[in-house]
Amino acid sequence: MIPYGKQDITKEDIDAVIEVLKSDFLTQGPKVPEFENALAEISNSKYALAVNSATSALHIACMALGLKEGDWLWTSPITFVASANVGIYCGASVDLVDIDPLTNNMCPIKLEEKLIQANLNNKLPKVLIPVHLSGQSCEMSKIKKLCDKYSVRIIEDASHAVGGYYEGEPIGNCKYSDITVFSFHPVKIITTGEGGAALTNDPVLAKNMSLHRSHGITREESQMSGSSHGPWYYQQLSLGYNYRMTDIQASLGLSQLSRLKSYVKKRHEISGRYDDFLKDLPLKVPYHSPNSYSAVHLYVIRLKLNEIDMSHREVFENLRRLEIGVNLHYIPIHIHPFYKNKGFNYGDFPESEKYYSEAISLPMYTNLSLADQDKVIEALVASLETI
Ligand SMILES: *Cc1c(COP(=O)(O)O)cnc(C)c1O
Repeated sequence: MIPYGKQDITKEDIDAVIEVLKSDFLTQGPKVPEFENALAEISNSKYALAVNSATSALHIACMALGLKEGDWLWTSPITFVASANVGIYCGASVDLVDIDPLTNNMCPIKLEEKLIQANLNNKLPKVLIPVHLSGQSCEMSKIKKLCDKYSVRIIEDASHAVGGYYEGEPIGNCKYSDITVFSFHPVKIITTGEGGAALTNDPVLAKNMSLHRSHGITREESQMSGSSHGPWYYQQLSLGYNYRMTDIQASLGLSQLSRLKSYVKKRHEISGRYDDFLKDLPLKVPYHSPNSYSAVHLYVIRLKLNEIDMSHREVFENLRRLEIGVNLHYIPIHIHPFYKNKGFNYGDFPESEKYYSEAISLPMYTNLSLADQDKVIEALVASLETI
């Protein structure tokens, strides 16, 4: 089976990890801050906080923005469940903004309509989480303008988008958001095994997230109430979690980060080749926004079901039978039983539902060989020809 995504681990990566294993610190040593500095540098942000997953990063980001019971968090229906779940972790309610069928990202026009309505009903969200699906940025300048108008804070879920650019600047620079989050799960662009990061330019948010990442504990006297009892002293100021990244993970991340540019370039080559070979088939290849350089985490095609005589499921199953590890990103948030039980209905977000009925993620990873890519293309041609 050719998988849909796969990590690339080199000898340098392995050596970097072994070096940490032989060192004094497996965690809370020098590698985490080194990785954080490197992340801040590549993304052009002031602060980067490494954590044990993007989910944790989204959670501490919501906490730092004060999301709590009675508040609303809005995100896209087409995302991994974590983008919505973090709102529930904070006791807030979750609502969704339908996608633009061209980009498959959150639609700024629908966002504006929904904000106008929410403003009338006194139910404006505290936090909006636009998701850069497949690694292509949402229309952040439009989204930021709308959120500023209604005082909504923004967390970019850039789990797919490390190494991407928007309007010529790196994703993660937080020019259009309060906080940006990356994921380093093995299927994403670079990996630390499990891991994530939260980036911001705001020192207060950075300090806050740093507290929430480690039990709400500080060792800095300037942050304490009252004076220190001595060199052993620390204070718990709020209820945090253990969301820390280890030095083992950070060393792998640092080593991987040195190849980020070449990884994304390679993904563009694969994507360009898919575009060329698939353009005449009864399907839509991904839209490439002219003001964005995608990190190309995913290559999602949408079947033109009115031009083929098979169901979406049949095409998908044919591909799996031909040993192509296709996938589907994502099942719309609102049709999961957990969210249905919160009052959502099928039909609430028609563009997302239509996307779900047509989308297939083809294999996309830096080491996908030309021969394997040819197999994917041939399998797709064969699957669609069995009409
Ligand atoms: C992978 C992913 C997450 C969660 O990342 P983890 O590092 O696995 O916690 C969140 N949002 C999106 C869009 C993702 O793809």
